[in-house]
Amino acid sequence: SWSSSDSVVSTDSAAGDAGPGGPYRVVLLGAGGVGKTAFSSIFAGAADSMDSDECELCGDEVCEKEIEVDGEPAVVTLLDTWDAETGGEWSQEHYMQTGDAYLLLYSITDRTSFLRASELRITLRRFRPARHTPIILVGNKCDLVRRREVSTSEGRACAAVFDCKFIETSAAMQHNVWEAFYGIVRQLRLRRDPKES
Ligand code: GDP
Repeated sequence: SWSSSDSVVSTDSAAGDAGPGGPYRVVLLGAGGVGKTAFSSIFAGAADSMDSDECELCGDEVCEKEIEVDGEPAVVTLLDTWDAETGGEWSQEHYMQTGDAYLLLYSITDRTSFLRASELRITLRRFRPARHTPIILVGNKCDLVRRREVSTSEGRACAAVFDCKFIETSAAMQHNVWEAFYGIVRQLRLRRDPKES
């Protein structure tokens, strides 16, 4: 189980250790109800993964699998354990410190979740002050056009202020969800490659 693994529990050396092909620890952050579980299910059940059937380590909270991004394999460990409502200080610090990259989700139908994403971004900056930690601000549920409370331009502006990428997705329509995962892997590679070459 992931919680007994040293590499996940260790907080100092854990972040930033991944080699060029991973495994990369990608953490889903966001208020309750924004679509984190839906993202995890899409990731876990992907038909277009190289290892088509399954995650190697599938549980309620974590899933590790190899995906192909731009023709090259990458191993991604998705952590979906964040619970902004019930998670205590320990879990908050734990996930803020152990991720290699973060998908910061809100729902475009819920302004409170958008504000929550900003708070999480600020907390994350405190735990991960390095500017190169890949973060994508994800406005989910973009299929619910008539219930929209946060405009695309607001989302984009927020991402610009927070110095991170931005994407709108619909887990329900499976729209742009894989783009978000691919985007995170591309950023993780970019972070490393310039030093290599
Ligand atoms: P979590 O609490 O962040 O894990 O959120 P969930 O993944 O459990 O999603 C909360 C609710 O929103 C569920 O009923 C999902 O079916 C629904 N949901 C998630 N993503 C979308 C989406 O993109 N569009 C729509 N219409 N509903 C969504």
